[in-house]
Amino acid sequence: MDDTDFDTLHDRALGAYLGLAIGDALGATVEFMRPREIQAQYGLHRDIVGGGWLKLARGQVTDDTTMSLALGEALLAIGGARLAGVAHAGDDDMAGMTRVVADAYVRWLRGKPVDCGNTCRRGLQRYLADGSLSGEAHERDGGNGALMRNLPTVLALMHDDAALERMSLAQARITHHHPHSDAATVGLARLLVRVLTGASPSECAAWVADWVRDHPVFAFQPYPGHATAYVVDTVQTVLHHFVTHPDFETALIATVNMGEDADTTGALVGMLAGARCGARALPARWLDRLQRDVVQAVTGQTRALMAIARGR
Ligand code: MN
Ligand code: MN
Repeated sequence: MDDTDFDTLHDRALGAYLGLAIGDALGATVEFMRPREIQAQYGLHRDIVGGGWLKLARGQVTDDTTMSLALGEALLAIGGARLAGVAHAGDDDMAGMTRVVADAYVRWLRGKPVDCGNTCRRGLQRYLADGSLSGEAHERDGGNGALMRNLPTVLALMHDDAALERMSLAQARITHHHPHSDAATVGLARLLVRVLTGASPSECAAWVADWVRDHPVFAFQPYPGHATAYVVDTVQTVLHHFVTHPDFETALIATVNMGEDADTTGALVGMLAGARCGARALPARWLDRLQRDVVQAVTGQTRALMAIARGR
């Protein structure tokens, strides 16, 4: 890969991570609202203004972004040399790496995050109680909390599909152990790799169609119209809006005005659409409103995680 290619790839990666934060900050204002309530209160919700049920400051992000940053920190602490062995690591080595991630999530929780999903909290309490890195598969674990934070894994391991799958599942199952969560986390990771490496919109749409054929529970055409935190609803909403709207702003506004788990659907559409357009094309009116420390953390992590990817 020459330097020009790397610049493009880096711009897409930064677009994905900043897009995630923008979608989180924009969507959080209307999280848990119904479309009709959003319309009555905001008309069309299209500005980062804070507020919402979490009473956020303008430009503040929630767990979707801050858990991603916790995962990114853990992957950087593990380091590129050790991550290079993920696909073939023995069980003890893999458990050791997963423990670094679990400890980062615990530090995140102890830092009094603005919000924390029930399944995340329960999973981290289980880890603290017995040290186990995964619970038994459970019906109630079908939320989107593992999917929403997986972006750093993709940045570090985009060139090694087996490692990407293994680390995605390991980080996911610390808190969520459900076949739909697993499939969604790995599936969107692989889709993001394609967007980052320059797949065209039609190539992405074809890849998504194949993936849905293999995972029919996520079929989204015709779009069922539910935007809840159930990972099936979330993935249908994200894929529908990502595939339907060619530009970042239109895709994100359409997504968050669905309400429900709007910060998380917004974050994931922001991630995919931000990768597609690249950081340089993100709307300045949104980027300028994000809290500066978040922009700095995201920018620094993107650079460091891409250095790991580049070393492979
Ligand atoms: Mn959130
Ligand atoms: Mn949410």
